[in-house]
Amino acid sequence: MTELVEKLYETSDLTDGELKALIETDDREAGELLRSRADEVRQLHYGKKVFLRGLIEVSSYCKNDCLYCGIRRSNKDADRYRLTREQIMLCAENGYGLGFRTFVMQGGEDGTFTDDLLCGVIRELKEKYPDCAVTLSLGERSYESYRRLREAGADRYLLRHEAASPELYSRLHPDQMSLENRKKCLFELKELGYQVGAGFMVGAPFQTTEHIIADLRFLQELSPQMIGIGPFVPHHSTPFAKEKGGTLELTLRLLGILRLMFPRVLLPATTALGTISPTGREQGLKTGCNVVMPNLSPVDVRKKYDLYDNKICTGEEAAECRHCLQRRIEAAGYEVAAERGDCAGF
Ligand code: SAH
Repeated sequence: MTELVEKLYETSDLTDGELKALIETDDREAGELLRSRADEVRQLHYGKKVFLRGLIEVSSYCKNDCLYCGIRRSNKDADRYRLTREQIMLCAENGYGLGFRTFVMQGGEDGTFTDDLLCGVIRELKEKYPDCAVTLSLGERSYESYRRLREAGADRYLLRHEAASPELYSRLHPDQMSLENRKKCLFELKELGYQVGAGFMVGAPFQTTEHIIADLRFLQELSPQMIGIGPFVPHHSTPFAKEKGGTLELTLRLLGILRLMFPRVLLPATTALGTISPTGREQGLKTGCNVVMPNLSPVDVRKKYDLYDNKICTGEEAAECRHCLQRRIEAAGYEVAAERGDCAGF
């Protein structure tokens, strides 16, 4: 099994059969080699640097009804909120003072976040903080909308493809949504010059190794600058309340594989990974991750951006999160980089 890790390290690719074997193995030596090769490759391109992204969760209103997600439209128990432009600017001001040089505006698909409103916020952010990158994660929009947001100054866009197998995609989403449109959006974002992030949940209901291999192949086709993966974590008010969550082991295995397949990609150690294990994010950093996304949202709304159960860091002030993460990053042997943190070579 260790020879598969070495082949992946040397060629950044494996056959489907080899990928399946490496994903499913419980060979500890191969697992440890994968971790150390992944760390070697991340250090070759990024040294010990870990980039911080200040996450501003702008709205928990969503017109979509993804079966796994706690802020899905049908969840009548969800306590919804949306931030005003002034609140978003205050989050950014706070974040800038804490050393963040990327702001991520993420939210449900909320129709009140029109292009005009968003363009205004993006322009103001770029005017006040010209040394910062603005990342959007606002779901599927039209080409024209993505074009206007890009023109207003948005640098990056996160839109996980969620599942590259049409069969799995349709089991995780309502009929109104399609993998085809999701992919179309991702290719349009790329064409518009965004740094693009795709990704998927690990251990989503019905997901098999074959589905995961389809995800890896789609990522090769898209060749994104960022890849977001984290374990599926059930939410109590969704149809998947009783499903099993994704595991730490499989998530780490895939993070290591992704680092070797995409040597220069921006790879976050996600909040979901920190949610299923107290040391999840640190282990992610040691397995190829080079980004963390601490929460900058106002404390009084944090619990309402309730994608999955037991989400961590919903009680602390941004400054506390920032310092807690710095300690964790340093204890894991890495260093916080106070910079925009673009993808190497972009
Ligand atoms: N509306 C935006 C942002 C979605 S939330 C969009 O469509 O891109 C960001 C990510 O959280 C999603 O892409 C999804 O992969 C993840 N997520 C949602 N519910 C989750 C759950 N129950 N467990 C783990 N991750 C979840």
